[in-house]
Amino acid sequence: MKQFWNFSAGPSVLPKEVLQQAAEEMLDWHGSGQSVMEMSHRGAEFTQICDEAEADLRKLLGVGDEWAVFFSQGGASAQNAILPMNLIALKEGRTADYVLTGSWSNKAYKEAKGYGEMRIAASSAEAREIDGVQYQAWQWAPDFSEWQINPKASYLHYCSNETIGGVEYAQLPDKAAIGAEGVPLILDTSSHFLARAWNLEGVDMLYAGAQKNAGPAGSTIIVIRRELIGQCEAICPDVFNYKNLDEARSRFNTPPTYSIYMSGLVFKWLLAQGGLAAIEQQNKAKAKRLYDYIDSTDFYHNFVQPSHRSIMNVPFVTANEALDAQFLKGAKERGLLNLKGHKSVGGMRASIYNAMPIEGVEALIDYMQDFERQHG
Ligand SMILES: *Cc1c(COP(=O)(O)O)cnc(C)c1O
Repeated sequence: MKQFWNFSAGPSVLPKEVLQQAAEEMLDWHGSGQSVMEMSHRGAEFTQICDEAEADLRKLLGVGDEWAVFFSQGGASAQNAILPMNLIALKEGRTADYVLTGSWSNKAYKEAKGYGEMRIAASSAEAREIDGVQYQAWQWAPDFSEWQINPKASYLHYCSNETIGGVEYAQLPDKAAIGAEGVPLILDTSSHFLARAWNLEGVDMLYAGAQKNAGPAGSTIIVIRRELIGQCEAICPDVFNYKNLDEARSRFNTPPTYSIYMSGLVFKWLLAQGGLAAIEQQNKAKAKRLYDYIDSTDFYHNFVQPSHRSIMNVPFVTANEALDAQFLKGAKERGLLNLKGHKSVGGMRASIYNAMPIEGVEALIDYMQDFERQHG
């Protein structure tokens, strides 16, 4: 059988074991006589599935009862509006701070502007020279020390992994050091959710579309300190009011039941791998292998500031677009799927999420070497 490796940015690769288990349970979940897709979202079976998914996610993240953990819908994109509607009233002034580092943080900022006065706390919109290297807009990220925080902001928002540009903040900011004590810190973590073992002490909310690193498309995962919930604007639809979602344990209305079930299987798979610390080590090793190879040759280039290179999304180019197109064609023939870069960046992008084994990265590098030999 031909081996395929899927480098899609999202929806993306899922653990093979998870897909196999889902296949085995497709027609009859645990002797219930029903597929998970056919169950009532309020019945005993799905209640067990949903509660277990939530509990396993809490275990992975190490968050207790002071946090709400729930599944919503609309993707990370919907959160760009839902989040300000839920949180803008936290403080007087109706203002929030945004850090801009690429496509997704810019979209979040633009949408949020409809709900209050949004400030830019830091941005990589300008080209900049760092350590003698010239970086274009969105190929670098401002250091935490450069963030200019408004202490009266209702919250501070940033995207910790820009999926399109391949720009990541690997560490969390120290709120005291950046002058953000008392300002809730909110991260769009969509494309590296559950990829790193973070201490969430200084964080107040994380959200992620499931389809990048935590399951199939359909659910949006929200992890938020309960003390921030309860000041939702009246214009916000009830189904997106965090208080309702928390109180109903993700079942205020009919949730994307099958998607939650699949994410639950992914969480169990992650726990079996040894949790987030173990998966982070694997992710770092995979990313290092690929970046080291790219840096070892003049044939391929990644343009991101090295200290902010993403361990999940690795954009790269050859010398020109024609060669990129040839590379992509040959890759597909070798079973290396979905390597085309985002249209705004061009070239290639290898997304090497949790479920991509090191063997997939090695197969990609083997092909890159062969291609260079033929065209270098
Ligand atoms: C994919 C992505 C989004 C948008 O997700 P949708 O689920 O399509 O709305 C937002 N932010 C980041 C970082 C992403 O990777």
